[in-house]
Amino acid sequence: MTKKNETASACKNTKVAVIGAGSVGATTAFSLLNTEAIDHLIIFDKDGAKAEGISLDLSHASPFTPNVKVHGSNNYNDLANADIFIITAGKRQSPGETRLDLTKANKAIFDELIPNLVQQSPNAIFIMVTNPVDILTYYAITKFKLSAQRVFGTGTMLDTARFQEIIANKIGVSPHSIDAYILGEHGDSSFPVLSCATVAGTPLTSFPGMSETILRESFTETKNAAYKIINDIGFTCYSIAMVVSTLVKAIVHNSHEAFMLSTLVSNYYGISDVCLSVPVIVGQNGIESHVDLPLNNEEVECLKNSAKILKSFQ
Ligand code: NAD
Repeated sequence: MTKKNETASACKNTKVAVIGAGSVGATTAFSLLNTEAIDHLIIFDKDGAKAEGISLDLSHASPFTPNVKVHGSNNYNDLANADIFIITAGKRQSPGETRLDLTKANKAIFDELIPNLVQQSPNAIFIMVTNPVDILTYYAITKFKLSAQRVFGTGTMLDTARFQEIIANKIGVSPHSIDAYILGEHGDSSFPVLSCATVAGTPLTSFPGMSETILRESFTETKNAAYKIINDIGFTCYSIAMVVSTLVKAIVHNSHEAFMLSTLVSNYYGISDVCLSVPVIVGQNGIESHVDLPLNNEEVECLKNSAKILKSFQ
């Protein structure tokens, strides 16, 4: 039987490596199987048995998926010629911990991991997921002298998705039709950009059914979403997996889509030398440009506040 992407595979052979085979790594690998964007998927973990077990289970789905070769490994040599690294290795929050509390432990993991990955695939694009994602994206770029275009974090793309979904439920409109973004830190100082939020071209703030109270509640729910899920089940993984597979598709298909991602900024509203989320355009080389969103004064102050907090952890 001919597999769906046989012709495409023969031409491009995209190799993606998911680093860390925990909850986030495993669900990300699962969501990547159905993207029709990749040909070779490596699941890498320091625990080789875990990487192999997950890859075997995933590979048994192959009669139902596009044609993807799946391998598990704990050997850096298997990461040669990767096009994209997805970094999910590291400690996750326990109930009561903030993302910033993970800084020291996960910087130590990056010290071991990143040089080995760069040695195997110096031109790969890095999608950072491990928290605190802004701090670690900055750490990887500056400490290991990596390209700020090719190294970025998922940032507030997930918070933005949560905000859009929560608002959608409250006003009875599909989240696809809501253009409302969360920027800044992927963490407690994130903030909504309401001054230019729209629903089908109409200002969100005056959309029928919307009110100040609903907006405030929606952002509070967004900001506390990960804390609630971590209290309920110990980790989050499904929505971040969809975030990552959407980004991989945008890179492989060179789609030039706009996302809110953690990126090294230089004079963005006067802010420099820190990674935080602003709107960016993504294509085959990673981040193509930063979009100058027209923020009001209050929103600029919120962005500066995120930058100040993040800089104190760099
Ligand atoms: P997990 O504990 O389930 O998995 C982490 C995995 O990393 C483990 O399998 C571990 O063996 C592996 N690992 C640790 N050190 C390694 C190394 N040096 N080399 C290779 N593998 C190594 O954790 P999880 O729930 O999958 O979360 C992973 C990270 O993702 C956490 O930091 C979490 O906070 C973060 N996260 C980020 C977002 C986001 O929006 N950016 C969302 C969810 C989770």
